[in-house]
Amino acid sequence: MKASILAVGTELTTGQIINRNASAISAKLKPYGVQTLAHLTIPDKRLVILESLKYLEASADLIFITGGLGPTSDDFTRDLVAEWAGLEMKFDETSWNYIVERLTSRGYQVRESQRQQCYFPIGAKILINSEGTAHGFQFSVLRPTGQKTIFVLPGPPREIEAIWKDHLSNWLKENTRELTKSVTKAWDTLGVGESEVAHLVEAALTGRPDSENLEIGYRVHLPYVEVKLTFPENEGGTWQNWITKVDEVLKKITITRDFTDVAEVVTKAVKNIDFTFYDYASEGYLHSRLSPFLRGQKKWSFKQSFSSDITADFFEQEDQFLAIFPYEEDKCVVVFSINGHRILKNIEAPMKSPLMSERRKQYFAEMALVEVSKTFKL
Ligand code: ATP
Repeated sequence: MKASILAVGTELTTGQIINRNASAISAKLKPYGVQTLAHLTIPDKRLVILESLKYLEASADLIFITGGLGPTSDDFTRDLVAEWAGLEMKFDETSWNYIVERLTSRGYQVRESQRQQCYFPIGAKILINSEGTAHGFQFSVLRPTGQKTIFVLPGPPREIEAIWKDHLSNWLKENTRELTKSVTKAWDTLGVGESEVAHLVEAALTGRPDSENLEIGYRVHLPYVEVKLTFPENEGGTWQNWITKVDEVLKKITITRDFTDVAEVVTKAVKNIDFTFYDYASEGYLHSRLSPFLRGQKKWSFKQSFSSDITADFFEQEDQFLAIFPYEEDKCVVVFSINGHRILKNIEAPMKSPLMSERRKQYFAEMALVEVSKTFKL
């Protein structure tokens, strides 16, 4: 089963926002064994929407469309989808009542223009949006290249999440039972270059069965080199020994496995406790790594400045904190203290050139998280 994702929005094609929906949807489809063929990003232009659907239908079984379901004059995705499928539209009174109730209960005025959000192609299943006023819809249609199922979703990622959870995950579960799922094993390694990591992995896999079903992938995302092995779920028995061999050769340099993020490990460990992050060394990198996990945290504080005068004594009276401070251009100290237990670690950045000062700061922040995550025995 193959899918393509069409993201509609002039704010996307002008570069104002990034098309996060496409990557989020592809990532959600993968575990079901649905392969994404294409991501297409287009402006709010009628003809382009129509042409894109004609292009995508040639190869995809599922087409996901996001954006353009709102109440304004540049929201016409639904009309073009109906035109493409040759379906009439019908006003849905229940959706209108939902919008009226949702808006009035939040103190917003209901406008006539909102009625356009209540037209759906006849026969389509309405996908109730518990996070907004724009319901999505889905329907199947027979086209010259076969049966196509179309999912039309609002633009905001949060609203897509809600519709996914309430409707699409069930649909996918039901309709992908026959598909071969794939499994990915991953290692984030640190301290050895990409070619050396590849050399280790290839050596460990020498003599493996001659098959295209084991995909080997490498990705550098500094300071890590990620190794990925992907294979069909039903071939687990064939590949398990080889996975173990790779695991062995990477053991010493592995920081996390299977896409675990050290920032998440650290923040989970100090969740719901009074905790302070002191950054005197990375000038913001530490904060940017933590920021995806800050929402909803009521007990954390963050102090960020730059100082080469701070020493470990400065934190003598404190507990429940993580601090990083430099002591030479290419060195910093990490102090982590929790429940009276303290670790102190010197970090030396391998990049020495004066041109690499930004990279060193990034390294300090990352290594602080790595050192702390090690104490939680990954
Ligand atoms: P509504 O206008 O009711 O919010 P809509 O379906 O009309 O819903 P759009 O107007 O297309 O959605 O987009 C609303 C907002 O959703 C955008 O301003 C943007 O913040 C976000 N958004 C839209 N498309 C994407 C996308 N592909 N990736 C990430 N964010 C997106």
